[in-house]
Amino acid sequence: MKKYIPQRNMPAKLVSVGSYELQRSLVNAVIDASPEGILVVDEHGIIVSHNQQFVEIWRIPNDRLRGIEPDTAVGADDQPILSTVLERVKDPQTFLARVKLLYDNPQLKDHCEIELKDGRTLERHSTVLRNDDGEYLGRVWFFRDISTQKQTESMLRDLAHHDPLTGASNRRYFFERANQEVARSKRSSTPLSVAELDIDFFKQINDQNGHAIGDEVLKSLCNASLDLLRETDIFARLGGEEFAVLLPDTNLEGARCLAERLRQAIADSKLKLNSGILSCTVSIGVAMLKPADTCIEDCLLRADSALYKAKHNGRNRVETEA
Ligand code: GH3
Ligand code: MG
Ligand code: MG
Repeated sequence: MKKYIPQRNMPAKLVSVGSYELQRSLVNAVIDASPEGILVVDEHGIIVSHNQQFVEIWRIPNDRLRGIEPDTAVGADDQPILSTVLERVKDPQTFLARVKLLYDNPQLKDHCEIELKDGRTLERHSTVLRNDDGEYLGRVWFFRDISTQKQTESMLRDLAHHDPLTGASNRRYFFERANQEVARSKRSSTPLSVAELDIDFFKQINDQNGHAIGDEVLKSLCNASLDLLRETDIFARLGGEEFAVLLPDTNLEGARCLAERLRQAIADSKLKLNSGILSCTVSIGVAMLKPADTCIEDCLLRADSALYKAKHNGRNRVETEA
C-alpha cells in the first residue's frame, strides 16, 4: 500500500502520534489485504492511493506508476494511469463520461460492469469519501475481475438454452423466444413464420444403423441447416427427430423458399460411415402468423398440419398452410 492516505482530522483521543500511526498502518494493511483493486482519489480527482491489486487488475506497466510512488504522490499526475485504463476498456468514451459524471456529482452511487479489450470483465463499485463534518474528501474506487463468473454464467445460460446432443436451441428456449417474436411482430406489423421439420423414416435409419449413427444424422442435419439460416432465425430441436425454425420478418412465401433450400441441403448432405454413405430427407410444414393468432402455438398448429400433408404427399417435400 502506498503511504499517502489523505490526512484526516483525528479525534482528540487519537491525536498521539503512536495511535495515529497505528490507525494509518491498519488502514493501509486492510487496503492491501483486499482482494479488490482499490484506488483513492482526492477532492481534485488526483490519485492519492492505490493497492497492488489495482495495478494487477488493470495491468498497469511500472513506468506508468512513476510519480505516484510513495513520497512523490502529492499532486501526482494521474494521466498515465488514466490513459492506461482508457487503453484497456472496450468503450473508453462511455467509461470517461461516467467517471466525469461521478466527479461532477459526488453523491452518485456507482456500480457497473466494464468490458475490457482483452475479453475480461471488471466489476466497479465506487463511493464518495467524506470526513466527520460531511466535507468532500474524494472518492474510493473498487475493481474486481469477474471474468470467470461471467464465463460460468454464459456457460450455464448456454446449457439452459441448448440441446446437448445437437447444439440447436432447445424446446423451452424456442417457445420463450417465439412468443417474444409474436409480440414484436404484432407491435411492428412485421411478418413472422415458422417451419416444422421431421426426419423421414428415422426409425428405419436407427434400426438399420444403430442409435449412435442416428445421433450423428441428427447432428449433421443441424449443421446443414444452421449454415443456411440468419443470426435472427431460431433453429430448435423440439424433441426426438423434430425441429422448428422461427423466421422473423419473413412472410409465407419467403419461409417456403427457405424451407425448400433447407430440404435440399439436408437431402444433399452425406454422412460418411465405415459401411458407406448415409443420407436422410425431411418433410417440412410452413405457416405464417395470422392477426387472429395469440401465441406461437396457434401458428405451429398450422405448420403441423402442413407437415402432416408433406408426409402424406410422399415425404421429402415442403407444404404450406395459409
Ligand atoms: P416418419 O417419416 O413418418 O416421420 O417416420 P419416422 O420413422 O421418422 O417416425 P417415428 O416417429 O416412427 O420415429 C421417430 C424415431 O426417432 C423413433 C425414435 O427412436 C427416434 N429418436 C427419437 N429421439 C432420438 C434420438 O435422440 N436419437 C436417435 N438416434 N433416435 C431418436
Ligand atoms: Mg416424428
Ligand atoms: Mg420422422
